[in-house]
Amino acid sequence: MIQISEKCVGCGKCTTACPFGALSLVNRKAVASAACTMCGACVSQCPVGALSLPTSSAVKKDLSSYKGVWVFVEVGQNGQTQQVRSVGYELLSKGRELANQVGEELCAVIIGSNIAAFYGEISQYGADKIYAVDAPAYAYYNTAAYANALITLIKKYNPSVVLFPSTYVGRDLSPRIAAELFVGLTADCTGLAIKEGHLIQTRPAFGGNIMADIKCPDYRPQMATVRPNVFKKVVSAPGKMAQVVKETIPVPAQAAKVRIVSTHMDPPVSGQKLDEAEVVIAGGRGMKNKAGFDLLENLARVLGGTVGASRAAIDLGLKKKEDQVGQSGVTVSAKLYVACGISGAVQHVVGMEHSDVIIGINKDANAPIFNVCKYGLVGDASQILPKILEQLKK
Ligand code: FAD
Ligand code: SF4
Ligand code: SF4
Repeated sequence: MIQISEKCVGCGKCTTACPFGALSLVNRKAVASAACTMCGACVSQCPVGALSLPTSSAVKKDLSSYKGVWVFVEVGQNGQTQQVRSVGYELLSKGRELANQVGEELCAVIIGSNIAAFYGEISQYGADKIYAVDAPAYAYYNTAAYANALITLIKKYNPSVVLFPSTYVGRDLSPRIAAELFVGLTADCTGLAIKEGHLIQTRPAFGGNIMADIKCPDYRPQMATVRPNVFKKVVSAPGKMAQVVKETIPVPAQAAKVRIVSTHMDPPVSGQKLDEAEVVIAGGRGMKNKAGFDLLENLARVLGGTVGASRAAIDLGLKKKEDQVGQSGVTVSAKLYVACGISGAVQHVVGMEHSDVIIGINKDANAPIFNVCKYGLVGDASQILPKILEQLKK
């Protein structure tokens, strides 16, 4: 929070300068509320130099007490059964790398009811410790209850890094925790690394035109969300069992404001979820029309895959919005990704570059998509695709 010194003469200039309405005058002295984001806009407005931001060195003193890389492992419902969302294992795999680099523990946090069955598998992805909050009250996701549980654990154990999946739950939960702990949060990271002891969080910025490296040198924990399929799952400790720390955390009263009556998930339109498909045939503006996308549907059928699209193709009405691959769509990590008539804009590439084998079909030999392709076919997709289909059918 902004610091206000004895020099304050109660002129009130700062109260109008604050874009968050965080400053007011009480007994002719400026007072800041919890709404202060420490943006610093008021500092230069004070004629007597009474306002200052806390110096980073003051905060840095405490950083050494923050240790460990934590991953929030989300349990989801699959019909009547519950299962750990795969992205949790992806984050643990990346978390293992980060923890090794800083020489600290990798810890999973799991919240739910009857979740002991998951401890074994979580351990295999390299977790040293599992903090488990297992009680009937946590059977369904509840923002206030889960946020309170995580905040309680973070305050108790002081982790240095906390990673969340960029799922509906992770996106709902992580900003609340960041706001409560007054720390930063980098959403939808496409890369994570350790540099000079800090977490470097890479994500597209300025409309995806640059990849920004973000770090939080003065606050802990460093928090980030990552979409499914950005990192690969790696079983790094087969047969290992992590230390399980069972925590009992009462559900706060405000959690009762929300009662889950029933849950419902729309089935994927094409029968196969894009972000789980092993084969993705994607089309862009170069596929031109419905006949072009019919070719892609045929190829997907023969290869047992599903069809995705670039934003340009979505804008042309050739596919539905939920089939968009890329920065503002779905991230895929397919075994085979075929990009047909897609130029390879960075906003598209960040959503598919982690696929194992990428094939590009484009009539422009200089199209950037070929920079991420293992195989490239230069030519008219409407002529190449029927020939591929013919060969496959043989
Ligand atoms: P174009 O760039 O128009 O490319 C068409 C390609 O087809 C060209 O390379 C051309 O040579 C080729 N071609 C033409 N005819 C044929 C043919 N007959 N046979 C073979 N090749 C042919 N885009 C996404 O895809 N996903 C996102 O999530 C996304 N998010 C965005 C977020 C922001 C904030 C912004 C600013 C943009 C975003 N975009 C996204 C848009 C992105 O910048 C590109 O505009 C888009 O990906 C281009 O789609 P495209 O490659 O299909 O079209
Ligand atoms: Fe308002 Fe920014 Fe000053 Fe805080 S630092 S009181 S948010 S202007
Ligand atoms: Fe006090 Fe400075 Fe704000 Fe005036 S601008 S009320 S002197 S802190």
